[in-house]
Parts: sequence; C-alpha cells; structure tokens
Amino acid sequence: MKVGILGYGNLGRGVESAIRQNDDMELTCIITRRDPKSITPATEGVKVYSVDEIEDLKDQIDVLVLCGGSATDLPKQTPEYAKYFNVIDSFDTHARIPEHFAAVDKVAKENGHVALISCGWDPGMFSLMRLYGASVLPEGQDYTFWGKGVSQGHSDAIRRVAGVKNGKQYTIPVESALEAVRAGKNPELSTREKHTRECFVVPEEGADLAKIEEEIKTMPNYFADYDTTVHFITEEEFARDHAGIPHGGFVFRTGVTGLEKEHKHVIEYSLKLDSNPEFTSSVILAFARAIYRLSEEGGSGCKTVFDIAPAYLSPLSAEELRAHML
Ligand code: NAP
Repeated sequence: MKVGILGYGNLGRGVESAIRQNDDMELTCIITRRDPKSITPATEGVKVYSVDEIEDLKDQIDVLVLCGGSATDLPKQTPEYAKYFNVIDSFDTHARIPEHFAAVDKVAKENGHVALISCGWDPGMFSLMRLYGASVLPEGQDYTFWGKGVSQGHSDAIRRVAGVKNGKQYTIPVESALEAVRAGKNPELSTREKHTRECFVVPEEGADLAKIEEEIKTMPNYFADYDTTVHFITEEEFARDHAGIPHGGFVFRTGVTGLEKEHKHVIEYSLKLDSNPEFTSSVILAFARAIYRLSEEGGSGCKTVFDIAPAYLSPLSAEELRAHML
C-alpha cells in the first residue's frame, strides 16, 4: 500500500515513522504547502513535493494521509483532495464533524474514492469505546476524561491567534469529578465541571497580552465553555518546560443489569501516551489500511471509525485472526 503524507508537522512526522512499523506499507512522498526545499524528511531518499503538483501524484498514492490542522486546514483540504485520492484525516473539532463529513462524502462519492474522517484516539479509539460501551450496557452513563496532556488541536488554535509566537495547551481533568465516577456515584457533570484548560503562550514582542488572552478564552468550540487559564512565558521557558506532546485519558461506561438492576458494571478504557501525534498516526495507518481495502473492493464515500469492521484494520488474514485473536 503506497502512502502519501500531506502536511509535514507533528502528525506528518508521526505517520512517516509509523509507516516503518507496518510491513505492508511504503511511503511514496511528502507533500507540503511550503517550499519543498525547506523540508528535510527523516526518511532518506523520500521525495518532497509542493501541493501545487498534487494532481500529478494521483497514480502513485493509494491513500493520502492529511496531516493539516483541524482549525482551518482540514475543512478545506479533505474535501479538496478526496477528488484525487483515497484520503484519511484526524479532524477533531467534534461540533463540526457532521458538516465536514457531508462535504467530504459528496466529493468522495462523485469521484469514486473512499475517505475516512476524524481518525485518531479522540475522535477515533475513544469514539469506538463509547459506542461499544453504550451498545453493550444500554442502561448506563458515559464519561470521557482527557489528560493531563497537550491537545494539539487546541495548541494549533492558540498559535493562530494574532500576536502569538508559540503556544501549548494542557487539558486537565477535574480531580473530584474523576473520583466521583470511579466511586460509582454516576455524577451529572457539565463540560466545565469535568476539565480545565491551561495555556502557555509565548507572545510576539510588543503584542497586546490582554487581547490575546481575551481571544483565547472566548474562542467558540475550543475554550469558551471551559475555565481557561493563560500564562505568558518566554521562549526559553517554553523550550525548557513544554517540549513534549504527551496525552491520555479515560473512557468509562457505567451500567446496570439484572431484573432488579441489582448488578453494576464499569467498563474502563485508558490511554497513557508519551507522544500524542505518534500514537494518533499509528491509529490512522491501521484505518488507512481499511479504506484501501474498501477501495479495492470498489467502495466509495466518506466513512468514520464506526463504519470499519475490525478485521479490516489488521494486516493478518481472517484465518490468522480467528486462530490467534478471537
Ligand atoms: P502541526 O504540527 O501544527 O501541523 C499542521 C500543519 O502545519 C502541517 O501539516 C504543516 O503543513 C504545517 N506546518 C507544520 N510545521 C510548520 C512550520 N514549521 N512552518 C509552517 N508550517 C508548518 O499540527 P499537528 O500537531 O501535526 O496536528 C494536526 C492536527 O491533528 C491537529 O489540528 C489535530 O486536530 C489533529 N489531531 C487529532 C487527533 C485525534 O485523536 N483525532 C489527535 C492528535 C491530533 P505544510 O507542510 O503543508 O506546511
């Protein structure tokens, strides 16, 4: 399976390294909006193309992995390139997934390609765990907690605010809320009661700090519904204290069964990730394998993780899966 990468940021580099762990995949090329000469891929010999040449690469790529940011890149790029390729993205602005899906689905169907949007761990693996949990325990409650960790989508959004030189956002679960769920109390929790958001911002010289803070705290979908703290720090502090991109979180489904609903159950799925982009990239490649297979079967249109049968993710055959994993 020939894989192309569009956008060479954290995720782009993550996909590049994850391809090395999948024997059935090879990296065809990296495509960027920047000057290709300004990019040095980690993989020796891999070609870097300008996005202006993307149409010429149509026959060389089985699946194009879109590694742009969710805030402004993917809403434009995924529908645009579903015209030429099977595509997969990690679009994570949850509130806008339905409209993104509709835009990508239309183009993918018109051009006979398979697309998959919103892949990764959340949306992605966490979405699947929510679906499995709620299907298995229909009478119960869902809880998702993120962090403590860096949200790339939110960090990306901060960095696009005028006057911001660099920025990083940590999502932090509210400890008391986490404890209440673990204790089986089934609390009703508002968005604000579950998580806080903490931002570390390196401002441009002479930037209006109050304006930056206000713009971040009131940003719809990203920060407006949370208690957000903004810290202004120097470039040196940023490099010293905020170099990594860790993340993680929990999906819980609590439920009851029995004639008297006398038995309680707790399903818990947890992730502890040293590198969010590298883990996200690993999930993306498993689903890229699935959409390639669907495309080979003559499928078209946009999918999400919900539409993919698990066996399509694995490089193992159906016989091997039945013998060793069932
Ligand atoms: P990023 O590093 O900011 O990269 C985004 C894009 O910016 C790149 O594709 C690249 O495009 C451009 N870029 C990167 N470095 C640049 C530089 N030095 N100068 C100029 N442009 C540069 O973002 P990311 O960390 O890869 O994350 C991408 C998206 O993944 C996030 O917005 C988030 O929504 C999503 N995500 C989803 C999940 C999930 O679980 N679903 C998890 C993690 C992340 P060009 O090469 O074309 O310039």
